[in-house]
Amino acid sequence: MKLDRGRLRRLQALEEERFVAERPRSQGLAEQAREHLTGGVPMSWMVKWPGPFPVFVNEAYGAHFTCADSIDHVDLCLGDTGAMSGHSPAATAAAVREQVVRGITSMLPTADAALAGAELARRFGLPQWQFTLTATDANRHVIRYARHLTRRSKIVVIDYCYHGTVDETFAVLSPEGRTVSRPGNIGAPVALDQTTVVVPFNDLAAMERALATGDVAAVLLEPAMTNIGIVLPDPGYHAGLRALTRRFGSLLVIDETHTLCAGPGGSTAAWGLEPDVVVVGKTIGGGIPAAAFGMTSEISAQIQASVELPDIDVGGIGGTLAGNALSMAAVRATLTEVLTDEAFARMEQLAVRWTEGVQAVLEEFGVPWHVTRLGCRAEYAFSAQAPRTGGEAAAADDFELQQYLHLQALNRHVLLTPFHNMALISPATTEADVDQHSAAFREAVSALFS
Ligand code: PMP
Repeated sequence: MKLDRGRLRRLQALEEERFVAERPRSQGLAEQAREHLTGGVPMSWMVKWPGPFPVFVNEAYGAHFTCADSIDHVDLCLGDTGAMSGHSPAATAAAVREQVVRGITSMLPTADAALAGAELARRFGLPQWQFTLTATDANRHVIRYARHLTRRSKIVVIDYCYHGTVDETFAVLSPEGRTVSRPGNIGAPVALDQTTVVVPFNDLAAMERALATGDVAAVLLEPAMTNIGIVLPDPGYHAGLRALTRRFGSLLVIDETHTLCAGPGGSTAAWGLEPDVVVVGKTIGGGIPAAAFGMTSEISAQIQASVELPDIDVGGIGGTLAGNALSMAAVRATLTEVLTDEAFARMEQLAVRWTEGVQAVLEEFGVPWHVTRLGCRAEYAFSAQAPRTGGEAAAADDFELQQYLHLQALNRHVLLTPFHNMALISPATTEADVDQHSAAFREAVSALFS
């Protein structure tokens, strides 16, 4: 089954016409925004949405949002996990409403902080926690602590990983297998091989070679890759990785910012992993900026013993608004009342329904793509076989095809996660929402291949 590029471009042009015709208010707002926002958007990556201008949002509630043109959409992007809790869930909104009039930030702890730490400890099995505003910051801080404690300079990351705007992580493998800057990496402070060693996912031999140098402070990875499509670990990969990091004295840092989709304690709890440090972010505050990192008692004690009180605010770990009262109220409410153990079970069932809907269409039209799922997150990709590495996943990427499928879905009022073909299920998502995507996807595949 071969893709006809000419047909794809004709279909894309039709979808663009339909998009523009249906959204005059978003178009007007985009024109107005261009006056004082670079690219017409508050952050540069927002220009990468499909269509000639972004959809402007009026309001979002649960698994839906309404745009400036009063069109109701099913939201399967959910702020790329920031709103995996559903938009403005009632319990989070109530806690935030209550806190926002009682003091937002004071540089002092509130009772909610201890409750939030206790709940994260219960879920991930790591006893000691610290809070930041973004997962990027949490990763940055963990990297600093790892270098500080081990007195080693290098961080191992996985080829085609994403961990936020963290300098060390913008590296990939060159065709010769060297660590080089990722294409498009803006303003790298130093050559990437000075800070980073890149290894492919699922490759324990490469991991062993990297760690055997004795230079590696920490291995930072997602337990399953989710930022280049979903790439699942081979059986035994995590056990091998844990054994290697222990043997060579490197910290094992598991970034669960996205893989929290695997269950209440992410993949760490679901698969019985034993990281030294876990990072979470995005959805733990229901979308209110908050992130966290959890660690073993041993690491926490080593940090406390090695950082001097007079220097603790200027050591490179911090953020004035970190752990603020509003974030902590949001995290406490979201974890204990919204993203509950029961909610996850339902979310996963609906993600299964989503993958079955996609799979049925692929089989009906004989299209050689595949669909993968991790808990309440699922994704289709343009290769017959599920990839085992980020490199394989990247090779199957097709930007033009992806932009068409996203725009086509948007015109059927379904929002997919941009930059890949991903759907995320929230506690508020319904079977009807999932089926709306299946119907749109069938129409797109039929237009491309019948
Ligand atoms: N870790 C992972 C695994 C991520 O996917 C992301 C963002 N997509 C981050 C960290 C960074 O999150 P933020 O942009 O909220 O800092």
